[in-house]
Amino acid sequence: MSRRVGLLGGTFDPPHLGHLVVAECLRVDLGLDEVRFLVAGQPWMKPGTTSADDRIALAQAAVADDVYLVVDDREVRREGPTYTADTLEELSGSEPDTEWWFMLGADAANALPRWERADAALELARFVVATRPGHELDLPEPYASRVELRSVPLVGVSSSELRERYRTGRATRYLVPDAVHQLIVERGLYEVAHG
Ligand code: ATP
Repeated sequence: MSRRVGLLGGTFDPPHLGHLVVAECLRVDLGLDEVRFLVAGQPWMKPGTTSADDRIALAQAAVADDVYLVVDDREVRREGPTYTADTLEELSGSEPDTEWWFMLGADAANALPRWERADAALELARFVVATRPGHELDLPEPYASRVELRSVPLVGVSSSELRERYRTGRATRYLVPDAVHQLIVERGLYEVAHG
């Protein structure tokens, strides 16, 4: 029987409760064997991002307690911009017996028409969109009929909001895993205003 593997692509700057809820709920709903956090190398849409080394360490801290979650750093190791189609080609080449399920929040899914080689990506994996508060899925054809929308418990948190919370000393506990919080403090990320 082929393995069913989920991929959650993201910047993970930092990883948070929203990422974990999407990964776990879709893993169980779709009967996946594991979910990989695909850490983006050089997000051309997000200049000023935290270093890839720090983001990988944060992602690893986020998944450390969960046997079903792993971090994949191939996009960070690759030179040049990150395109999901390249990653999916590489993965299907090296693991041909695996069924790939690419997960996105509704905000990220709405950007699909602007992706480099979106068509190739959509051929190589099943695309599953998770509900996200404040973002309605709004895709034109031919994209709309090639993605599947799944409801997950709504978590109204984002990495940008968390960076702002760290900067201004507001609450972050329970919104990021403890191990992620510890690493943020240790490495002095996000101009932490409290410990
Ligand atoms: P930022 O605020 O910096 O843009 P983000 O919170 O959207 O970051 P990413 O690492 O860019 O985090 O997200 C990776 C993937 O996870 C994207 O597909 C995004 O839509 C999805 N995602 C992130 N947070 C949530 C959430 N709270 N609910 C549902 N999906 C989410």
